[in-house]
Amino acid sequence: KKIEPKKDVYVVSSDSAFAPFEYKDSDGEYKGIDVDLLKRIAELQGFKIDFKFIGFSSAMQALESGQADGMIAGMTITDERKANYDFSDPYFQSGIQLAVAKDNKDIKSYKDLKDKTVGAKVGTESADFLEAHKKEYGYTVKSFDAADQLYDALKVGSIDAMMDDYPVIGYAVKQGQDLKTPIKREVGGEYGFAVKKGQNAELREMFTEGLKELKRTGEYDKIVNQYIGSGS
Ligand code: GLN
Repeated sequence: KKIEPKKDVYVVSSDSAFAPFEYKDSDGEYKGIDVDLLKRIAELQGFKIDFKFIGFSSAMQALESGQADGMIAGMTITDERKANYDFSDPYFQSGIQLAVAKDNKDIKSYKDLKDKTVGAKVGTESADFLEAHKKEYGYTVKSFDAADQLYDALKVGSIDAMMDDYPVIGYAVKQGQDLKTPIKREVGGEYGFAVKKGQNAELREMFTEGLKELKRTGEYDKIVNQYIGSGS
C-alpha cells in the first residue's frame, strides 16, 4: 500500500553510535540496519529523509520538541514510551544484557554487583533496568551520553560492568572488543520507528507499509544479515 507523504523531506533523529543499527563507517558515512531500512522504505514510499545522528536521548528530545518528525534508533517499544510516542509495527526483536571485561572473574550474577559501578547510556532501557534494581543488588549507576564513552569506561576500568542491547554488545565482541556477557540476557522488547504522539501519522504508516514490503520481498533479511549474519 502506498501512502501519500505530506512533506518532501522528513527529519529523522537517531543515535550517534549504536552499531550495527547506526554507526559512522571508516569512510565517514553513517550506515547500519536502521539507516538502510529507512532509506529503502523512503525510496519505496516516495519521500526523502534528513537524518540527524545526535545520540539516543537527544534524538528523543528532538522528537518531543518537534525538531524531528520521526526517530529510528534501535528504540524499544514500551508502554511507558507509548504515552509520548506512536510506534510503527515492530521491526527487530531485541533485549538487554550485562557485559563485563573479558578478563573479569568476579561478576557472574547480578548479586556480584554489590558495591560495584555499572554504566548505561542515558534514557535507555538499560538505564531504567539498572535504576530499578540498584537497591536490590547494591550497585551504583553511572550514566553516559554516548556509547563510545560507555564502552571506553569499561575498557579503562572506571566502571565494573555495563548494560546495553544484546545485539549491540554481540557486534562489539565480533569487532574484537574485550567483553563478555556472564549473565543471561533479559527478555527484551522490540524496536519500532517512532513519531511524536498524534503527529506525522503518515510517516509512521509509511514506515510500517514499507517494512511489510521489504519483508515480503526478502530485502529485510538481506539488510539484517549483511550486518548481523543469519542465526545470530
Ligand atoms: N533499545 C534501547 C532503548 O530503547 C537502547 C536504544 C539505544 O541505545 N539506541 O532504550
